[in-house]
Amino acid sequence: MTNLWYELVEDGNRFKHEIVERLKNYKHGTGHKADCKCPGDYKLKGFRRCPRKTVMPGGDKEEFRIRMVECSDCGQKFSLLPSFIPREKHFSIDIIGSVLRSIVLFGQSLNGAFESFEMCGRRLKSRQTLLNWLRWAGTFHPATLLERCGAQCQGYFQEDEGFEKEPGLRTYTVVMADPKTQLIWHMDYVDHVDEKNLCTSFEDFLQRINFNVKGITKDKWKPSTNALKSVFYKVWIGFCHLHYLRKLNKALASYQTETKCPWKQVNELYRKIKKILETATHAGV
Ligand SMILES: [Zn+2]
Repeated sequence: MTNLWYELVEDGNRFKHEIVERLKNYKHGTGHKADCKCPGDYKLKGFRRCPRKTVMPGGDKEEFRIRMVECSDCGQKFSLLPSFIPREKHFSIDIIGSVLRSIVLFGQSLNGAFESFEMCGRRLKSRQTLLNWLRWAGTFHPATLLERCGAQCQGYFQEDEGFEKEPGLRTYTVVMADPKTQLIWHMDYVDHVDEKNLCTSFEDFLQRINFNVKGITKDKWKPSTNALKSVFYKVWIGFCHLHYLRKLNKALASYQTETKCPWKQVNELYRKIKKILETATHAGV
């Protein structure tokens, strides 16, 4: 991996063709300011004065020369980094990634992660570094990451909001997931689930994707339906069967109380409606 980078970065022509000219095809984050509307025409502008010194797996510090480019539109100069060197970090992405995985996916404690970090050949200065990395990983919007990975989406989502309660904090999360791939494309904290707050959240999501949102299944919460309709052009909204069936159960129970009809009849009704829903779904998809 690093050998490939050494070869590439020293060869100006190859770097121009293989990296700089292809940047416009990707929604890739660079050091370039986000609001520049240029189509992605950048000129090579030599090297960064100091090479980057990064700790690589195994614990050795390696030096990497970094090329600079200049935007032909706004004139800003910025550096282009290889994917294994995260911006403003001393450690390579593989090291940071494996530590964060052990904490977030496998439930390792901060102390455990701090102590076992030595296995990569270096000690961390303090536990605060681990917290900084965690916060840094969380600053990326899921759609930004998925777009960069080249993940595909047909534009159909399941949307829902959930109440979160943490010490001293009452808030909601709003989530949009692709039911086919199970990928979470949008996840956000909002203070209220009213139409205005949800609109802001969905607009933020819309900015980060380059496909159309065609359809969304959700519960009957009116403010989110309105927000989705106003943010996503001509979107199809379907009401989720799971939410519907839960409500149906309650409605049938009160129906039974009112009419005093036998429970057998109520169960029969539930079964029939569920069958209709299933048949309609299979026919529709
Ligand atoms: Zn620019």
